[in-house]
Amino acid sequence: MYNKYTDILSKQFGCRVQKISVNAGFTCPNRDGSKGIGGCIYCNNHSFSPSYCNTATSIEEQIEEGIRFFSKYKSQKYIAYFQSYTNTYIGAGKSHTDEYESINILKNKYLRALSNSDVIGIAVGTRPDCVSEPLLDYFAELSKSRYVLVEYGVESTSNRTLAEINRGHTFEDSVWAIEETARRGITVGAHLILGLPGEDRDEIMTHALKISQLPINVLKIHQLQIIKDTVLCSRYMAAPDSYRLFTLDEYIDLLIDFIERLSPDIALDRFISQSTSEWLVAPNWNIKNFEFVHKLEKRMAELGAIQGSKFESIGK
Ligand code: SF4
Repeated sequence: MYNKYTDILSKQFGCRVQKISVNAGFTCPNRDGSKGIGGCIYCNNHSFSPSYCNTATSIEEQIEEGIRFFSKYKSQKYIAYFQSYTNTYIGAGKSHTDEYESINILKNKYLRALSNSDVIGIAVGTRPDCVSEPLLDYFAELSKSRYVLVEYGVESTSNRTLAEINRGHTFEDSVWAIEETARRGITVGAHLILGLPGEDRDEIMTHALKISQLPINVLKIHQLQIIKDTVLCSRYMAAPDSYRLFTLDEYIDLLIDFIERLSPDIALDRFISQSTSEWLVAPNWNIKNFEFVHKLEKRMAELGAIQGSKFESIGK
């Protein structure tokens, strides 16, 4: 009924493959003034880093701890997931001074994760305005021997929304980064948030169409969450009725409409994000990822819904 990323990885590597989050001490250009100040209005990086993943321990130790944690689920191979902040950005004032030196600093971090023999590759989460052609050339070279996924925070295809959430980049930046990455034969991931401020159902459905026109291999989607200590949280607290947050069932139906309009070639990785209860303000669905997937698949089966079934018709 939909194209599962986990199935693609299992088929490619012949075993269960698990991502291990790594916090390699990167920062964010949308916080330090290089691209913007204050960050995206919904972002609080503390709210989603797993407990084994903090910069007090080395990259190698985080990988080992992650492998210990996941080995009980019979995972056999691992992808080091550079998740927190912007994992191709070495800091204000440094990124463009010496491209060669910057790439060497980044390479060192990626190669340390790859030094564990159980790690088959890396997934690098970043902003579309934080990759350069030389860095993509390096990823292309690395991807000849290791699995490399570059995952871009696209979040929305609307420039009005991107300005509203203070992303500090445009949709055109995303298109450039995605096309340049795919052109080099690197696996491309994208991340979208459904339900951003000011977006109604019709606008959300246009994201499916626009994303489907791009050479994206893997898509992660999640619901808008209101997280403590964010600009969005302050705005929400001041005027909660101005924000349209979905109930769990509403979100599942919205997601199914979205998946039906999405190209069947794009593999789907995740559908929700789960901030810990100490950080989450709303919506509080209190559901684990596997429970959500089960509910989604049950509902898709009830409706006879199939990824891409409305993809062509919407393009005409
Ligand atoms: S979501 Fe990413 S780009 Fe935005 S402020 Fe947070 S770390 Fe920076």
